[in-house]
Amino acid sequence: MDGHQRTDESRVLTAADAEFERRRRVFNADIDVSPAAFIECRDVSDIQRAVRRCRETGVALSVKGAGHNLSGSALLDGGVVLDLAPMKRLELEPGGRRVTVSGPVLIGELVRRLRGGDRFLPVGNTDGVSVTGLTLVGGLPNQARAFGLTCCHLESATIVDARGQVRVLNARDETGLFWALKGAGDQFGVVAELVFELVPVPPHVLFGFLFFPLARARELLTKYFRLCTRARFSDAMIYGAFMLDCVGVGDEFMGEVGVALRRDTGRSDAVIVPFAHYGGDLGAAQAEYLALRESLGEPYFEFMTVDSHWELHELLRDKQTARCGCEARTRFVGQDVDAESLAEALASSYERSPIDNFVIDCFSLGGALRRTPADATSFPHLAATSGVSFLGRWGLEEPRRAAHRRFLQACDRAIRPHVFGAYSGIPNPSVTDPREYFGANYERLAALKRAHDPSGLFRKDVPGYGLLPPRDR
Ligand SMILES: Cc1cc2nc3c(=O)[nH]c(=O)nc-3n(C[C@H](O)[C@H](O)[C@H](O)COP(=O)(O)OP(=O)(O)OC[C@H]3O[C@@H](n4cnc5c(N)ncnc54)[C@H](O)[C@@H]3O)c2cc1C
Repeated sequence: MDGHQRTDESRVLTAADAEFERRRRVFNADIDVSPAAFIECRDVSDIQRAVRRCRETGVALSVKGAGHNLSGSALLDGGVVLDLAPMKRLELEPGGRRVTVSGPVLIGELVRRLRGGDRFLPVGNTDGVSVTGLTLVGGLPNQARAFGLTCCHLESATIVDARGQVRVLNARDETGLFWALKGAGDQFGVVAELVFELVPVPPHVLFGFLFFPLARARELLTKYFRLCTRARFSDAMIYGAFMLDCVGVGDEFMGEVGVALRRDTGRSDAVIVPFAHYGGDLGAAQAEYLALRESLGEPYFEFMTVDSHWELHELLRDKQTARCGCEARTRFVGQDVDAESLAEALASSYERSPIDNFVIDCFSLGGALRRTPADATSFPHLAATSGVSFLGRWGLEEPRRAAHRRFLQACDRAIRPHVFGAYSGIPNPSVTDPREYFGANYERLAALKRAHDPSGLFRKDVPGYGLLPPRDR
């Protein structure tokens, strides 16, 4: 396709267009993928036409949401990328029980719309991620333990499949596509619309942070992982543990916990344990907060308050939308974890980090996730008791990015004996086998892919992520 072209109705952008360079940018500035064209779709028939055209010409097709998948999975070298921005729509049902999203509606936009109301959607706190992109990979919001995966709140989806046909999918679907969409959804079609059932906002949330000296990291993380494997807390209680080192960008990255940054060096000197209780019963919340405190030992500083869900969201909001070079690796922790060895691997990784903006984030799972029926979604890691993420960020001109990536790979190797799986929302560059992302659901997903998209029209060039073996593509 040549520059400045139009199909019957859609606008097509190629490298000849001034805007092309901007379109191919994603959040991770290290991604350098050049699609053959971007096609703007204004409605479902535009999507159908684009899908049929690609199918006839044998060109692979992808959809760009908000571009926050760090692997650049929204783009395809030499492929066609659909831009659904002209279809962007956010509709709250009268009565406020359901919300419909179409096109790349951002989490920040959804929250602004629902803010102050009595229902919400558990979507996490990153403003710039798209609601659709999050849902298609399952969606692990920071309140997953209390409310489950984002995709569990999906009521129906309208997609255009690989034959260019429109399908409305819901719980009555017998093809398996609705199931597949909830965890591996970016490999099965173009999602035109999603309808979610919202959940009631608790009357108030008790939340806060405990700060512990970094010198206690090994002991504290060991206790943390052990706590995650014991049924000590109700599902309403969520708690994490993180260590962050973000010299120079600390305030921008997490202003609220800036208190953990040492005044002399600007570096963090703490293990920070955030917690929140979404149950609404203040007596129960207070008891669980005290139990958490007692389990972990005396903090050097703590902060606890009771506020609305919306205020807490505002406090934790990740507003950073500026692009940066980055890499993240997320793994899951099981019931039989060797807590001490995992804590040792994490603490020593943290101590050796050469990356100025480096975060290790441990987050509690279980709870609502464990109660989710195994066949409700294609996200396979429901039995995890917690998750662990390494995240490194660097500037656009960072000369040491290759060394930083090698370091993150070494961190991943160090924890590998103590963790399992990987999260498809944050593809891990070390993964070569899609079973790591899709676990026991891989065979069923691969069979559905062969049945519904045998030629791999919706291809993913992310190593270890595609559901069709490379020879079938
Ligand atoms: C700073 C940051 C914070 C994050 N925090 C969290 C978090 O708290 N919890 C969590 O679970 N994940 C989190 N993520 C991961 C994020 O949710 C996933 O990577 C998600 O897939 C991004 O969606 P997107 O639309 O923003 O990105 P994109 O890269 O545009 O899209 C992601 C994938 O979805 C596909 N896609 C998007 N829209 C459509 C559509 N309409 N039809 C078909 N396919 C589509 C794309 O082709 C691509 O494969 C975070 C990522 C970043 C960078």
